[in-house]
Amino acid sequence: MVKDTKFYDVLEVPPNATDSEIKKAYRKLALKYHPDKNPNTADKFKEIGHAFEILSDREKRDIYDQFGEEGLSNDGGMGGMSAEDLFSSFFGGNVFGGRGTRHGPRKGKPLKHVLKVSLEDIYLGKTTKLSLNKNVICPKCEGRGGKEGAVKQCTTCKGSGVKVSLRTLGPMVQQIQQSCDACNGEGEIIKEKDKCKHCSGKKIVNERKVLEVHIDKGMKNGQEITFSGEADQSPGIEPGDVIIQIEEKSHDRFQRRGDDLYYTAKINLLTALAGGQFAIKHLDERYLVVNIEAGEVIKPDQLKAIRHHGMPSYRHHDFGTLFVKFDIEFPPSNWVDKQVIMTLENILPSRPELAIPENAMTEDVELTTMNDEQQRSASNHMANGEEEEEGHGPSVQCAQQ
Ligand SMILES: [Zn+2]
Ligand SMILES: [Zn+2]
Repeated sequence: MVKDTKFYDVLEVPPNATDSEIKKAYRKLALKYHPDKNPNTADKFKEIGHAFEILSDREKRDIYDQFGEEGLSNDGGMGGMSAEDLFSSFFGGNVFGGRGTRHGPRKGKPLKHVLKVSLEDIYLGKTTKLSLNKNVICPKCEGRGGKEGAVKQCTTCKGSGVKVSLRTLGPMVQQIQQSCDACNGEGEIIKEKDKCKHCSGKKIVNERKVLEVHIDKGMKNGQEITFSGEADQSPGIEPGDVIIQIEEKSHDRFQRRGDDLYYTAKINLLTALAGGQFAIKHLDERYLVVNIEAGEVIKPDQLKAIRHHGMPSYRHHDFGTLFVKFDIEFPPSNWVDKQVIMTLENILPSRPELAIPENAMTEDVELTTMNDEQQRSASNHMANGEEEEEGHGPSVQCAQQ
């Protein structure tokens, strides 16, 4: 007679069960109730593991038989291996397909989506709706696949979905596993007539879901917004996350670097030399009117800054700097007659003397005008500098004037 039959009941064996019967019972139940197969049976799985841990150990089983569970608590009966570790050591690893030791239900794959966002939307902030198709647990059968009671455990694999056979090689036990062919690895069988009409026994249905994506002011390119658990649902699996990644579209007026904006302002020669105004259309349609004081000279490619008119920073919404680079529009050749040029000679700083030593040899040469392509090629060569090989220089001599 044993004091308490609880652990035997958990393993569904009689108190006089042999070691091999206990092992067999554990193998069957642990596979059936493993949380990777069914997250709702995690407690049951632990219970089975604990019962097996005690009953498979001769000494612990004796104590349990005589004194019940209380007899064990002193030697740390509950403090042994975790049910999952016990399971792994018993089966030798990945029974459910390469996932290793895990705790809690398996989480589904995340669903990634790239959302292209304009700089205007990042400047102002925006809420955008995004619809996606996803699998959800069938609401009609609540993910069972058929009427309650119609879903039968597969008798071939006893619900595990896998056929596990053990091969003993001396002290080593090797485990061989295959997907059960009677149930296609599902672990259960539903008769055709009992299948849920709504999902045809698939347990899941496709549904269109609209997500509201909040583009916060100042979000960065590549930043991710996570919708926890919004990816596909599947029975026994915790749904994965939907991850929206922000991709900033390039802008025709502004370039963004962090919280700063870069803008190229085209001004004419008079404004560059004598001051004036120009306007910048900002991302919120506002026009910033910029003054150049009379007397200040703006040089080509000069950079100036307009503080606190860049992008809002993420969360704090402090504005960065708007940098302005100047592109100066010169008048075309022959824009005035000789008379005006003489006036310019009186107005502008006079021409510098040639810096040629007195006894140096000199030669007069001609400046050739190049076409656009030749100019492009020449400036590429100039930018690449000495790395260029000989003989590939700009072919100025081809430009016929
Ligand atoms: Zn259904
Ligand atoms: Zn089966």
